[in-house]
Amino acid sequence: MRILVTGGAGFIGSHLCDRLIEEGHDVVALDNLITGSTDNIAHLAGNPRFHFIHHDVTEYIFVSGGLDFIFHLASPASPLDYLTYPIQTLKVGALGTHKALGLALEKKAGFLLASTSEVYGDPLVHPQPEDYWGNVNPVGPRGVYDEAKRFAEALAFAYMRYHGLVVRVARIFNTYGPRMRAEDGRVVPAFICQALRGEDLTVFGDGSQTRSFCYVSDTVEGLLRLAWSDDPGPVNIGNPEEMTVLEFAETMLSMIGGGGRIVFQPLPVDDPKVRRPDISHARTRLGWEPRVSLEEGLGHTISYFREKLCL
Ligand code: NAD
Ligand code: UDP
Repeated sequence: MRILVTGGAGFIGSHLCDRLIEEGHDVVALDNLITGSTDNIAHLAGNPRFHFIHHDVTEYIFVSGGLDFIFHLASPASPLDYLTYPIQTLKVGALGTHKALGLALEKKAGFLLASTSEVYGDPLVHPQPEDYWGNVNPVGPRGVYDEAKRFAEALAFAYMRYHGLVVRVARIFNTYGPRMRAEDGRVVPAFICQALRGEDLTVFGDGSQTRSFCYVSDTVEGLLRLAWSDDPGPVNIGNPEEMTVLEFAETMLSMIGGGGRIVFQPLPVDDPKVRRPDISHARTRLGWEPRVSLEEGLGHTISYFREKLCL
């Protein structure tokens, strides 16, 4: 197949491009590099089955030739990034998703939206099943991301119902691995890099909030299973192994050492208190569940950052 990956120079997008190339597809990655980097796809340069287009998906998208499928991942994803780029985040979720859906219609291609657990906001139902409608503050600082993704989901389903487009919606939960940016502010690269540098680990709030971390190869496998299924979703893709942020900081210190202490900083506004995916749907309908343990996934990620930081 010939497949477009928007956000293809980002963290998850670049791993998805690798998998698609490995499986023999032709891949076009499209990215404006606002939070991504060509470093993530440098190893694919020169591959005749890979092509990169530097473009902002909120503007009319032109891709020559046919396309069979579009994975739409373009969007800032780290809370620090979407607070730095609030308008761009709203625009890419709304206008960018509209342009990408229009392209899918024009090319008669299937379409997968990379949505997020943030559509559940600060959830009042735990763990989160797909039929939970969420608890989002539309005017809070995180609203720029949460509402953009909620709009993107609604738009994708409207294209499915009105135009008959083949649509798949994945709600991705916290995913980590090599190629995250050391300074993107997300807790996994933050704690790993702090520990590797011997700095204190900055736990926000009292650290009792929970997250469930999924290794990137598992997330990519989930996206592919969903894309090639006959199920529009939405489907949660994440690892149900839940821990508090404080436990995660302690795990990092025991795995890396470094001599730093745990220090507490204010909790960001609307930071969800709990998050854990109910993955019954993915298990039964896609035959998918995460395979990589936290210890193994963190091992790969720590090695990546050790090399990246020249330590
Ligand atoms: P990332 O920031 O590494 O990747 C996003 C990519 O999109 C970047 O390369 C960026 O430059 C590009 N991009 C942003 N706006 C664009 C625009 N207007 N035009 C073209 N390209 C644009 O983040 P990621 O973690 O790889 O996330 C990828 C996708 O997965 C995002 O849509 C995100 O919302 C979703 N997601 C990620 C997670 C996670 O834990 N990593 C969780 C839930 C959802
Ligand atoms: N967090 C933290 N210290 C940091 C970065 C993040 O305690 O240096 C917390 C953050 O407040 C949140 C959790 O870790 O409760 C996960 O944050 P992240 O930015 O990775 O993603 P989120 O799940 O909030 O989208």
